[in-house]
Amino acid sequence: MLRYVDAAGEWLEYSDDAFIAGQAFREQRRIVALDASRADPDHADVYKSSAATTVIAAPVTSEGRRIGVLSIYADRAPIFVEDDLWLLELLADHTAVLLESRKIATAESTLRAREDSARLKEEFLSAAAHDLRTPLTVVLGQAELLERRLERNPTAPVDLAGVTRLAREARRLRDLVSELLDAQRLEEGATVMERSPADVRNVVESVRRRYHDQGIDLKATLPDEPLVGSIDVPRLEQVLDNLVENALKYASDGVLPEIHLEQHDGDVRLSVVDHGMGVPEDEAARIFERFYRATNVQSITDTGIGLGLYICRRIVESHGGRIWVEPTPGGGSTFKVSIPAAPAVPEPDPQRAPAGWSAGAEAAADA
Ligand code: ADP
Repeated sequence: MLRYVDAAGEWLEYSDDAFIAGQAFREQRRIVALDASRADPDHADVYKSSAATTVIAAPVTSEGRRIGVLSIYADRAPIFVEDDLWLLELLADHTAVLLESRKIATAESTLRAREDSARLKEEFLSAAAHDLRTPLTVVLGQAELLERRLERNPTAPVDLAGVTRLAREARRLRDLVSELLDAQRLEEGATVMERSPADVRNVVESVRRRYHDQGIDLKATLPDEPLVGSIDVPRLEQVLDNLVENALKYASDGVLPEIHLEQHDGDVRLSVVDHGMGVPEDEAARIFERFYRATNVQSITDTGIGLGLYICRRIVESHGGRIWVEPTPGGGSTFKVSIPAAPAVPEPDPQRAPAGWSAGAEAAADA
């Protein structure tokens, strides 16, 4: 079977004994047919309808293997001189080299993709093994301690501090596992974003509410009017949550981070400003890479595996936006997220939606 590409770029399939090109391919020789309809009467109608009066064809081969055929059609005869034939053969040789190198490149990229995916799995596994072991050891040690105490004295009062520690480490463990799974799912493109128009102010409020419940009151500046983006609400909340969590984790002086939301050049712009240790300038881009932890934290005993910002970047990019970090004037870092704004949505129906951002998202989805 030979596949031809016609003048309009369409692919057509014919058996390899059809046409003068097919004959050149089959017999592995150059053919010149000054009157194509006469040389190949079976396909005279095709030659006529495509105004192909004269045809020359040369086989394309590589190391003795038949790869294809190169043919040139002309509407007037005779048009080809000896130079044209020579040129055609040269082109056929070039085509062979091109096709061969593309084949090698494809084989190479398949191999590279396979190696990348194996390396990715290895990286995930070793990060998981290393980072899960520490909290697991604490959880196990604490649980065994409580178990021994209870065995010795079943009526002893509950060791609240011990149970709290157990719960805290178990939560950390759960967060690490979700981060690892999330990053791997995003890497494989398996997490489909469900986007709909929603007021981004509600995303900020929802994250602030969560921190408020933990006794942390974050300052935020929000626009007076709704600022609508086409967003996956829980995913954007995850991004903001992560940025705030980092700002708190890497804040050296205890000053709380602030959130700003504004419209900027037709985009929705979210900023998390902290006054902490700052990100070394030459690592500002790298911190968004998988497993990258900057030198500012490597020496201290912060928990983390360098996946949070990578996940943020993947989420923001899938919204058609970008994320970056700038130094905060006076010290610290400002993480910025920019995503395209969407046309305004109608106000949520208070009858149907009781409170919060989810009301906005629901109304928008129905609209
Ligand atoms: P993790 O916090 O688990 O290390 P992240 O991907 O969230 O992973 O962050 C990557 C790195 O970026 C951190 O290890 C740290 O070096 C740097 N970083 C992130 N946020 C801040 C911040 N607010 N201030 C200073 N450095 C930060």
